[in-house]
Amino acid sequence: MSDCLVVGGGIIGLSLAYELSRRGMSVTLVEQDEWGGQASSAAAGMLAPLKEFAAPGPMLDLGMTSLACYPQWAAELEEFTGGDVQLSLEGLLTVALNDDEQEQLLAKYLWQKEAGYSVHFLTERQQLAEVEPLLTEQAQAAIYSPYEGHINNRMLLRALVTACRLQGVVLHAGCVVSGIAVKGGRVVGVESSLGPLRATQTIITSGAWAGIMLEMLGVSVPVRPVRGQIAAVSSAGIPLRTVIFGTSGYITPKKDGKIVIGATEDESGFQREVTLAGLASVLNGVMPYVPALHSAAFLEAWGGLRPATADGKPLLGPVPGWDGLSIAGGHFRNGILLSPVTAKWMADYLEKGETERLTPFLPSRFLAETDQAQHKMG
Ligand SMILES: Cc1cc2nc3c(=O)[nH]c(=O)nc-3n(C[C@H](O)[C@H](O)[C@H](O)COP(=O)(O)OP(=O)(O)OC[C@H]3O[C@@H](n4cnc5c(N)ncnc54)[C@H](O)[C@@H]3O)c2cc1C
Repeated sequence: MSDCLVVGGGIIGLSLAYELSRRGMSVTLVEQDEWGGQASSAAAGMLAPLKEFAAPGPMLDLGMTSLACYPQWAAELEEFTGGDVQLSLEGLLTVALNDDEQEQLLAKYLWQKEAGYSVHFLTERQQLAEVEPLLTEQAQAAIYSPYEGHINNRMLLRALVTACRLQGVVLHAGCVVSGIAVKGGRVVGVESSLGPLRATQTIITSGAWAGIMLEMLGVSVPVRPVRGQIAAVSSAGIPLRTVIFGTSGYITPKKDGKIVIGATEDESGFQREVTLAGLASVLNGVMPYVPALHSAAFLEAWGGLRPATADGKPLLGPVPGWDGLSIAGGHFRNGILLSPVTAKWMADYLEKGETERLTPFLPSRFLAETDQAQHKMG
């Protein structure tokens, strides 16, 4: 019997298990396959809230809070585990190639500047080339955001697994959860391929599969998989410095000799293979921004399933009507960015019952009164 049982070993489950255990709770973490083997290792690892969120509001605030956690969180993880996570907060460019795009970028820049964020609007060729010499001469303008960046998410996942192990989290990889156990109206753990696992608190962190998991209790939350197809090329001979976003793709120069380029957003259920059409759209989407990519050596392509919710916001907090059960999921395009804040705020809820900061993200927004009442009667 653990204090907390975390179901799903992607970036969210690993970060949460580590945080809960650092706070002195006994934690069990289960993963049906390998640690981080789904969306979390498929990601590009960008940490870019100002690029990702189109307007001020709770998502941007959540993203900025999480970005601010990153330097200390990553440094502590590196020190604790002895592993490198290749955090790089050295800036990114969002580029306009025509007048329409420039107008949209300018509008975004103006509200971001007004809100006090550190951003610059570059329109001179020389300014653009200073930030990124390999940027196409067709670039008309860009928002330059000097403090956003990226991390090596696969190395981060490895560090988190080590951190959980060192912290004493009970880790079960290859353990499939097949049911949620209820006793006296309270969730008391799960049924799994390893047998019953019991805990005071059960937390669903199973990414694109979170909806299926809650359906086991008859609870419907709108989480669906959105496939991302993505690729890596060699950076040999292409000394890119800066992350570049365009309307048709992004280019992330990693510290490990790769440039990660992506990504599609297509809905094909739980299929995550790479299609020729998907790969073509990724390649064609990025080459206009950095012509040197035409000669890049192709390394690999892969796909992953982003957990998307109906309103684009994650689900964080208790599942109404089911004591002992909560969820941290639905992080869609930004689960790597949002992992430290998710872990901290969820741990605040599980440790101290704090839900105030979770208000915009509570699962209750999707769950009708009748569903909850029905269960309470049952
Ligand atoms: C192509 C692509 C690019 C992306 N780029 C970025 C980016 O640059 N920056 C960013 O912040 N985010 C990015 N994302 C989004 C990010 O990857 C996700 O939001 C994040 O990984 C979600 O993490 P998770 O732990 O919730 O889900 P997952 O990593 O999918 O983990 C859920 C885990 O639950 C397990 N599970 C499911 N069912 C069961 C069961 N029955 N029993 C046991 N275990 C189970 C699964 O096997 C899985 O490992 C990208 C995603 C994709 C696909």
